[in-house]
Amino acid sequence: MDKRPFVSKSKLEEIKAKYPTPFYLYDEKGIRENAEAVKEAFSWNPGFREYFAVKATPNPFLMKILGEYDCGCDCSSLTELMLSDALGFAGEKIMFSSNDTPAEDFVLADKIGAIINLDDFTHIEFLEKTIGHIPETISLRYNPGGVFELGNAIMDNPGDSKYGLTYDQLIDGYKLLKEKGAKYFGIHAFLASNTVTNEYYPTLAKQLFELVVDIKEKTGCEFKFINLSGGVGIPYEPGKEPNDIKVIGEGVRKVYEEVLVPAGLGDIAIYTEMGRFMMAPYGALVTTAIHEKHTYKEYIGVDACAVNLMRPAMYGAYHHITVMGKEDAPCDHTYDVTGSLCENNDKFAIDRQLPKIDNGDILFIHDAGAHGFSMGYNYNGKLKSAEILLKEDGSFELIRRAETPKDYFATFDCFDVFNKIKF
Ligand SMILES: *Cc1c(COP(=O)(O)O)cnc(C)c1O
Repeated sequence: MDKRPFVSKSKLEEIKAKYPTPFYLYDEKGIRENAEAVKEAFSWNPGFREYFAVKATPNPFLMKILGEYDCGCDCSSLTELMLSDALGFAGEKIMFSSNDTPAEDFVLADKIGAIINLDDFTHIEFLEKTIGHIPETISLRYNPGGVFELGNAIMDNPGDSKYGLTYDQLIDGYKLLKEKGAKYFGIHAFLASNTVTNEYYPTLAKQLFELVVDIKEKTGCEFKFINLSGGVGIPYEPGKEPNDIKVIGEGVRKVYEEVLVPAGLGDIAIYTEMGRFMMAPYGALVTTAIHEKHTYKEYIGVDACAVNLMRPAMYGAYHHITVMGKEDAPCDHTYDVTGSLCENNDKFAIDRQLPKIDNGDILFIHDAGAHGFSMGYNYNGKLKSAEILLKEDGSFELIRRAETPKDYFATFDCFDVFNKIKF
């Protein structure tokens, strides 16, 4: 599929006149249509809930929009729990899927009634010691080891990942939890990341459904939900087919009816914890070309840097770039598009074929709506950008202001030097 920005050049110029680049722009219409489609795709399962992976895009305005489609929040840290709680997501609308979890995080998760999903066998005792009891509803995260395959393709490598319990630990874990008074159980697994195929969820679901039938036999535990977690991806490159959530939902329904229903487990809720699929295509990093440099290569310097979007520097991830107003111009120039960090990996694109770029051109960096802003950092003392929501009626609203030097220096405010900094 061709990648087109969800906003016009003239609208971006209007926004830029009020909020200077770089900024993140989110597309309310796209977010809503997709959230509705997700809800619809799993409507065959009465207990279904998508718990949006907060780490992908921890913005209260966006989380609230998803909340309108009955989404909950999937948290993995103290501050994510605090934010979800503050937004009114209560009790079972919060999933706490953490790992290497600090005690204080469990305390808060328990206090606000979140569903706790444990990442290790030893966390059972740790949790009990920390909060003084075992919650009535509790979940364990499964890791089958080995590699995760779809057809003949290796999708990911669970055997190398730090997450989850082995099969034997799961059986012992559920038995122990039951002994300690837990009544309702869940299971969770995240076995492949950014899958662009309609087969991932159905394949994972089949494994988990069969596992639950087996565990129920061995432990007598009553399963309330099966959490397929995240990993449903998006095509970052143009020309690729995106996932079809309707087909995915039907695929999960098919194995549900094949495996769970005949086993008398047809009342188990399906949960998901998608981040990327819910938000990535509906957010973009908007930046302006400010320098053009010709040395051994051709460079375009922009006013954003890896601090604003780390995925290309960190994973070599591809993010499509549209030069606004030049959508249909020939891509007859080869550029590295760079940020200003003193790090040579600070490049949004390497050897990318793009139209001729002039200083002042606005670049729309696609598919940055998940694991984009939130992964940002402050290297080189760079500041994080604003986030802006493009509403359905074409108006726009600031949903996070840009950082200022004062924010950057705030953790020195108990020291004398803070008073000497000239803001
Ligand atoms: C990151 C994460 C997710 C979301 O993953 P996506 O690839 O964005 O769908 C869901 N659950 C857990 C536990 C995660 O760590």
